[in-house]
Amino acid sequence: MGVISDPTEESAVREFFELFKIPWEFYRKERQYQVVLCTGDAKPQPASTRLLILYASTETEFDARLKIETRLHDHETNISFPSGSLPLYGSHATFLSRGAKVLSDEDSGETIGFVDRLGDQMFARLGYDLFREVRCLLTQGQPTANAGTPTLELHIAFLRDLIVGCGIPLVEIPPLPDGYSFIVCLTHDVDHPSIRRHQFDHTMFGFLYRATLGSLFNVGRGRLPWRKMFTNWAAAAKLPFIYLGIAKDFWSEFDRYVEIEKGNPSTFFVLPFEGDPGRSPEGRAPWARASRYDASHIASKISHLTSAGCEIGLHGIDAWVDSSRGREEAKRITGFSGKETAGVRMHWLYWREDSPVILEDGGFSYDSTVGYNDAIGYRAGTSQAYKPLQASRILELPLHVMDTALFYPDRLDLSPREAWKRVSSILDNAVRLGGAVTINWHDRSIAPERLWDDFYIRLLNDLENRGPWFATVSQAVSWFRTRRSAVFQKVQYDSGAMHVKVSTSGGDKLAGLRLRVHKSRVPNQFVECADNHTNGYVDISLNERIDTLVAL
Ligand SMILES: [Zn+2]
Repeated sequence: MGVISDPTEESAVREFFELFKIPWEFYRKERQYQVVLCTGDAKPQPASTRLLILYASTETEFDARLKIETRLHDHETNISFPSGSLPLYGSHATFLSRGAKVLSDEDSGETIGFVDRLGDQMFARLGYDLFREVRCLLTQGQPTANAGTPTLELHIAFLRDLIVGCGIPLVEIPPLPDGYSFIVCLTHDVDHPSIRRHQFDHTMFGFLYRATLGSLFNVGRGRLPWRKMFTNWAAAAKLPFIYLGIAKDFWSEFDRYVEIEKGNPSTFFVLPFEGDPGRSPEGRAPWARASRYDASHIASKISHLTSAGCEIGLHGIDAWVDSSRGREEAKRITGFSGKETAGVRMHWLYWREDSPVILEDGGFSYDSTVGYNDAIGYRAGTSQAYKPLQASRILELPLHVMDTALFYPDRLDLSPREAWKRVSSILDNAVRLGGAVTINWHDRSIAPERLWDDFYIRLLNDLENRGPWFATVSQAVSWFRTRRSAVFQKVQYDSGAMHVKVSTSGGDKLAGLRLRVHKSRVPNQFVECADNHTNGYVDISLNERIDTLVAL
């Protein structure tokens, strides 16, 4: 595929094609392409191109020449196509219907995309700016109203279907580890590893209130079974004995996590310093953000976790605004884990637009903060690790599911049944679209008074049945880096067979990549939806390099 775009879109184009990993390059006049994708007013006319895809939200010279009647719209809208629908954040154009409609405005039903013929060529005219949408998703992200839509993955799915539906076979390295259905990263923000450290502070009084009256109230509104209320009351009664050192501290649940995760390694993000609320976007962070423990207090737990195969990352305080503070915070964690701290997730998910660059300067290889405090889903529209457009090396593994967002009364406040429905839809998307699902279950969430352990165990069982690769965040990010390193050295389609040569940096030995060759569909069958061609591709294991001929 040759791509012609505005120079200002270059970083978004490059990142888009790391997420939709197909053979492509910026258009070169002397080369021949099966597919040319252009944006805005670009106007190539190479006769050898079988499919010309034109994305633009404005009226182009191409439209004028072909007398395509265009109407321009400024407002946001949802577009639908046979296998889904997605929100557009920028302006868009609609067309007076011609050819075969492939995209329509969800409200008005007007055509936003169609496919037509131009002599021997096919062309697709799509009335929005793909790479502007990509930039918007990867930098500003989606509002919570659209959290549940993996928008960027759907842009990819649509484009893939369009190409294959126009009768052109396509080679791809999908975001799927070889032999697994998707990737899952179990993570735990360690905010409160001990209730003993909270004496007569807001956390202790909060716990007492929620365990006693709060539990009774939740029984009243049908959110808590009686059994759990009594467990919480017993926990509250035990508190004095915990302070005296006679009873077990029920917030120290590291061993239990290792036990219920049954050897599937998870990632714990640990706070480096005690008593420091750090900075907030407005100045000083609220005092409540300061932790009552630091890494030294759980040193023995940390070494137990690392020997169980778990990863210890930094739960950052000021790393998101200050790279030298970030280095200090990471160093503190490294001191206890004995392993270089590769990654970070910010406490309270603090974040601003230049954080990726600051974290990169701080020496981090990944971040996993981009998610919602008050929703679950796809803030950046993707389930893949991506490189923020302003950064040069750091990868962001977005956070998708957080326990407190699901259950806290001032967040989504869902019943277990409603929460299950939302989480299942994210796992269904992972099976359909690939990528990684990142889950954050806080350290004390499986203990009183939250008692979200049964939900978590059910979730682990459901995951086991779906066959994902359980990876630490470092492992997942390293897998995505290997995939990013893949280079298509040769892709040639000749008399019913595809010759593909790919090399990668090797790297990750934990899970391999796969090469997927999508067979073409009968031209003009693009309106058949994606679900109809589940067998429309061939998968081949890809380890380090491959040179293969695939019969189609
Ligand atoms: Zn936290």
